[in-house]
Amino acid sequence: MFCNRKSFLFILLTSILYLNGCKTSEEFSGYSYDPEGVTETSDREINHQNKRTIGFLEDGVWITNEFRGSRVNDVIRIDPYHYRLQINPEISPINNSPWYGFQVWADDSTNVTLELNYADGRHRYRPEISYDGGQTWQNADSTNYHRDPDTRNGIISLNIGSEPVWVSAQVPQTTNEFQIWSDLLAQNRFIQRSVVGSSHQGRPVYQLKVSEQSDEPVKGVILIYGRQHPPEIPGYITGLYFIEELVSDSDLARQFRKYFDVWAYPLMNPDGADNGHWRTNAAGVDLNRDWQFFNQPETRAVQRSLLPLLKRDDRKVFYAIDFHSTGQTVFYPILEEIETFPHLFTYRWADRIKNELSDIDLNVEPFPTDSPIAKNWSHKTFGIDAVTYEVWDGLPKDQLEILGTESARIFMELMISEFENEMK
Ligand SMILES: [Zn+2]
Repeated sequence: MFCNRKSFLFILLTSILYLNGCKTSEEFSGYSYDPEGVTETSDREINHQNKRTIGFLEDGVWITNEFRGSRVNDVIRIDPYHYRLQINPEISPINNSPWYGFQVWADDSTNVTLELNYADGRHRYRPEISYDGGQTWQNADSTNYHRDPDTRNGIISLNIGSEPVWVSAQVPQTTNEFQIWSDLLAQNRFIQRSVVGSSHQGRPVYQLKVSEQSDEPVKGVILIYGRQHPPEIPGYITGLYFIEELVSDSDLARQFRKYFDVWAYPLMNPDGADNGHWRTNAAGVDLNRDWQFFNQPETRAVQRSLLPLLKRDDRKVFYAIDFHSTGQTVFYPILEEIETFPHLFTYRWADRIKNELSDIDLNVEPFPTDSPIAKNWSHKTFGIDAVTYEVWDGLPKDQLEILGTESARIFMELMISEFENEMK
C-alpha cells in the first residue's frame, strides 16, 4: 500500500491547501455581462497567441504580431490586397472587450483592406492608427474605416508602404510605457516605487507610495487600483493623469499631501497588458472577480501589501478608487443605504464633477457590495467609501487629461475638508 502515514499527511495537507486556494464565491455569480463561472478564480488553460509574421508573397504584404500588446491570431487572404484577420480571446466565453493590435506593411506602396473577424466577440473598438512607429496616433474615421452592414465586422482601408503601419484597438500601453511613466514619477522625493509581487509570467506588480513629510499624527490614505482589465486603457490613462495631479506642485496638491498618503497600483495586470488580452491575466482569470479568495498572484500581492494598514495607528484609510473603462463615463458607488466612512463621498464628488465639467457626461449607478471586486473588498476591509471609476472607452484623448486632472482637483478639495472635519 503506497499510502503510508507520511504520504497520507501530505495528501491531507495538500487537499486543505487546494480547498483554500480554489474557493469560489457562493452568493454572487457574476454581472449580466460576465461569462458563467467568472467568480471561479483558480487557474485555467488559456489559448496562447502564436507570435509570427505572415507574408503574402503574391501581394508583397506582411502582417505581424511580434511585439508587446499585439493580438491577431491568423490572417486569411480573401482577394488580392484584401485580408481577413482572425482575432481570438485568451479564454471563452469572455466579456466583449475584443482587443486587437498588429502592424502591416508592403514591399511596394499599395492599398489594402483588412477585415477584423472575432471568435467569441463582436467588433467594438474604433481603430487607432500610427504611421510613425507609435509616436503619434489617429483615431480611424469614415475615410479609412467602417463596419460591414451584414457581418458588423470592422473594415479598415489603408495605404501602406515599406514602413509598418500600426493598428490597435486603443493607443497601446504596455509595461514598457508604464516603466517610463513610473520612472519619471519616482524621481519625486516623496514617491516610492516598490515591487509588491510578481505576475504569473514573472512581471513585477508595482506599488507607488506617495508620502510627504507631515506634522499630522494620523494621516489619511487613499488607495488607487488600475488596469485589472487590459483593454481598458482610457480608464488607465485617466488614472495616471489623476495620480499626476495628486503629486503635482499646486498649492492644493501640497495641502492634500500634508493630510494624505496615496497607495497606488496603476497596472495590476501586466501579463494581460503585454499579451494583448481581452480581459484576464495569464491564468485566464478576471482579476476583478478575485477579491474574495485571492487565488491569483496579482490580487494577492496587492492585498498583502495593504493589510498592514489595518494595524497602523498613524494611518487611517479614507477612500479607494478603481479605474476601468466601459461604454460610458460612469461612477459605480456603493448603495446609499450602506454605511461607509466617509459617508456618501462618491455622490458628492460626482455632483461636483457634473457641475464643473460640462463636457463630461458623467453617470452614477450605485451597486450593492456583494461582488468580489476591488471596490467592495476595500469597503469591507477598511469600512471606507469607494468607487469603480469607469471612463467611456471612446472619450477623445484630450478629454482624458481634463477628466483625470479636474476630477483629481475636485477630489482633493473635498477630501481636505473631509479630513479637517474628521481629524481636527
Ligand atoms: Zn473593467
